[in-house]
Amino acid sequence: MDRAKASLTEPAGQRDTALAPAQRDLLALAIAFGAIIMFVGTGGSVLSGIVRSLAGNGAGPDRLLTNALLLNIALIIFGWRRYRDLTGEVAERRRAEEQARLLAETDPLTGSLNRRSVAAQTDFLVETSRAQGRAVAVIMVDLDNFKQVNDVHGHLAGDEMLREAARRIGAQLPPGSLLSRFGGDEFACVVAFDPAHGEAIDRLAEALIDAVARPVRYNNVDIETTISLGLTRNDGHERPLDAQALLHVADIAMYHAKKHGKNGYAWFDPAMETELRFRSELEAGIRSGIPAGEFVPYYEKQIDMASGELVGFEMLARWNSPRLGVVKPDIFIPVAEEIGLIADLSESVIAQALLEARKWNPRLTLSVNISPVQLRDPWFAQKLLKLLVESNFPPERLEIEITESCLHENIALVRSMIVSLKNQGIKVSLDDFGTGYSSLSQLNSLPFDRIKIDRSFVTQLPDNPEYATIVRSITSLGEGLGLPITAEGVETEEVYKALAEFGSFNAQGYFFGKPATAEQTRDELAQLELLLEPPAPARQVSTRKRRASNG
Ligand code: C2E
Ligand code: CA
Ligand code: CA
Repeated sequence: MDRAKASLTEPAGQRDTALAPAQRDLLALAIAFGAIIMFVGTGGSVLSGIVRSLAGNGAGPDRLLTNALLLNIALIIFGWRRYRDLTGEVAERRRAEEQARLLAETDPLTGSLNRRSVAAQTDFLVETSRAQGRAVAVIMVDLDNFKQVNDVHGHLAGDEMLREAARRIGAQLPPGSLLSRFGGDEFACVVAFDPAHGEAIDRLAEALIDAVARPVRYNNVDIETTISLGLTRNDGHERPLDAQALLHVADIAMYHAKKHGKNGYAWFDPAMETELRFRSELEAGIRSGIPAGEFVPYYEKQIDMASGELVGFEMLARWNSPRLGVVKPDIFIPVAEEIGLIADLSESVIAQALLEARKWNPRLTLSVNISPVQLRDPWFAQKLLKLLVESNFPPERLEIEITESCLHENIALVRSMIVSLKNQGIKVSLDDFGTGYSSLSQLNSLPFDRIKIDRSFVTQLPDNPEYATIVRSITSLGEGLGLPITAEGVETEEVYKALAEFGSFNAQGYFFGKPATAEQTRDELAQLELLLEPPAPARQVSTRKRRASNG
């Protein structure tokens, strides 16, 4: 890189010359200047001698002086030539330097500034704008589904998408604004505006969103993307921030806009920083907590309403965080999914749960929740079967719960996975039913064993007639498809009784008990005489068989 730069700024062949071009430039000028002075000094008398001799009144000019004059003329010509060459050289060098600067400051794909150069130019813009009584807004722009565009349409389409996004963003910016590509699919815009009219920046943000949302045609295919924007203004902070800091807080705001649904914009707020700090603390905690065994299974009872009997447990993950205490999965599951650790986390808690459930009466089932992210892994079924083999747990007693959102993903992959799991004897239920608008045909095309009505409908059943209608229609749907139903979120006897009127369900919820630790669950099962004696390692299998026939 440095070498390339050197060859651009310094023409080859002159690199070893002892004098720098500016010095050579000066020397040539000095020689020419000296020659001119000497020419003026000697030239007068020599020329008058020549004129006199030509007119026939006198001897010719002094020989020595004539030679001196000729040398002077030669030196003037030499000096002038040298000067001209050097100015040409300098111009050439300046052009090369300019080109190198452009290369170093701009993004070759889109022609906008790059990350390195935008900060300095932002500082400059902030300063000149301040002198004119204007404020500066920094806008971070990020394409929402760029990875998908690359994956689905290829990298060339991705490049075209970036170029077009840069063109459209640039076209919306007022003159004098800066546009920079931050690498990947991230852009930063810096715009001066009248501080009394911050709403102009809101309007600009909306215009940017609309402009980029128009489809991009590539190879006869319309490709669409949306953007998320984070905004901040230089005059909106407790203490003045430099360009780097402004870009950083705009980035935090952009991250916030992404979190809250994408395809929109957010102004930076200091609370976002706290949120972000908490988030990175969570990430680090999860990363170190998995190998440290901080993630453990809790168990929630599942009851057959017809007989009132306990039929099994749903395993719910908990995080025993040394810093935060017991953390609920709604907090850590989405983070683990995003940082690519959900499979590790899930496998760790499932492995613990399988070992624990082997101590229970064999008629009790174990349900585990599986993230949509895990279902994208073609090896998921193999991994789950490996866990079953390692813990020697019968597949028939295991039920996996997947949510409706899985049905919107690669349905062919999900279907083949479900089929292979079912071939091994594992049951599959559709969790949180009613919240994800899964189409009936999709539901019908996948071989589910059970539907779980989402707890939001069940919890408020007695107070909300609409929810009663929903529960009723899910019930008849289940009957029509021959699928048994579990109602979750049964908190009170009132709900329990209301449910009983709709039909026969399995039920779970706080009415039967809150999710409990392995130890608590073991104690309770022991009281119900549903716990196997701790098996002696060598006689493990026969013990289980004997108990199974008892249960
Ligand atoms: P879910 O599968 O719908 O689990 C039921 C949630 O409802 C649990 O929350 C449970 O504690 C709660 N719940 C149970 N009975 C009642 C009730 O009567 N009233 C109310 N209001 N809530 C009740 P939890 O344990 O916080 O889990 C939240 C979600 O986290 C679960 O929802 C599940 O989707 C997910 N999750 C839990 N463990 C795992 C896991 O190991 N892997 C994955 N991927 N997701 C998990
Ligand atoms: Ca569940
Ligand atoms: Ca659920």
